[in-house]
Amino acid sequence: MSALYVHIPFCQHICSYCDFCKVFYNEKWAWQYLEALSFEINEKSLQTDYDTIYIGGGTPTALSYEQLKSLFELLKSYASQVKEYTIEINPETMDKEKLQLCVNYGVNRLSVGIQTFHDHLLKNIGRVHTSKQAISFIKEAQQLGIQDINVDLMYGLPQQTFEDVKEDIAVLAQLDVGHVSYYSLILEDHTFLKNQHYQPLDDEEDARWYAYIRQELKRQGYHQYEVSNYYRYKPSLHNLVYWHYHDYDGIGVSAHALKQSHRYENTKSLTRYFQHQYLEEDIELSRQDQLFEKIMMGLRLNQGINIQDINQLYDIDFEKQYHHVIERYQNMKLLEIDNGFLRTTELGMNYLNTILIDFLDD
Ligand code: SF4
Repeated sequence: MSALYVHIPFCQHICSYCDFCKVFYNEKWAWQYLEALSFEINEKSLQTDYDTIYIGGGTPTALSYEQLKSLFELLKSYASQVKEYTIEINPETMDKEKLQLCVNYGVNRLSVGIQTFHDHLLKNIGRVHTSKQAISFIKEAQQLGIQDINVDLMYGLPQQTFEDVKEDIAVLAQLDVGHVSYYSLILEDHTFLKNQHYQPLDDEEDARWYAYIRQELKRQGYHQYEVSNYYRYKPSLHNLVYWHYHDYDGIGVSAHALKQSHRYENTKSLTRYFQHQYLEEDIELSRQDQLFEKIMMGLRLNQGINIQDINQLYDIDFEKQYHHVIERYQNMKLLEIDNGFLRTTELGMNYLNTILIDFLDD
């Protein structure tokens, strides 16, 4: 599976928890950005037959209709074989024309940033759409024939109660979307919420809300396949490339690529990107780095890590090399080996970070 990520850093508003690479939308900068993106594309020898393309941000749909069209034109020759073509959307930036444009250029998956269906909570985190806007956007997209829709939701938001989460899930049940990403709010450094000293949920509460979300989504027919991701019809093929630790390409400011044991990290500076100095770092990953990253990504998946695969890839005896940590967490019922896969148990997913630290130290 081959994958291309495209980063569009513009947003029409800035959310209080956000640490992504983004700037306020500015028409002139957006054109300049598309020119710089075209430069990067032309300078790199990208393959022309990606299985998945994912346009993320920022808010890609903050671009104007004409800019969005230029972006799709830039990507057209790389999308001829694409199976999954996703664009991230914020409801307030969309209209019928832009949606039709996406469809015309072969986009077949939408990832919609909703976060919650409560307007007062949306305001608290700096989002500018309303619940009504989000719901009507999803219905409009479904009417246009787009069936593969992901909804991003969050829990642990300022002033959000457990009841609010229950209500969000009840609204979700009415929408018949095929995929849900349900994240716990993480307080990143240098974000507005962090600077305001917002206190997130404690571990116990987080685990209680998380358990409820998993159980309710399961009841609604969703299959959990990753810590925060659930699908009814199909998983995100693009994100599976990351979690399976396969190579991928990435273009745009702050984008990463993984190619033949190297991670390429693009600059986060828009100024440098405009000057066509897109590459910030080329990191050669040691075998140990790769092995750990493979474990880190694989344990996020419900399916877990294929032990035979990892043995062949890194020429090791995985179970022997990590027997201390595997046995410790097996005894605590946080890890299990089943059918040749090492995976976290339902309870173990709550302790994934701790488990990973032990893999790193072992
Ligand atoms: S819309 Fe997305 S990228 Fe933009 S500020 Fe909000 S969370 Fe960050």
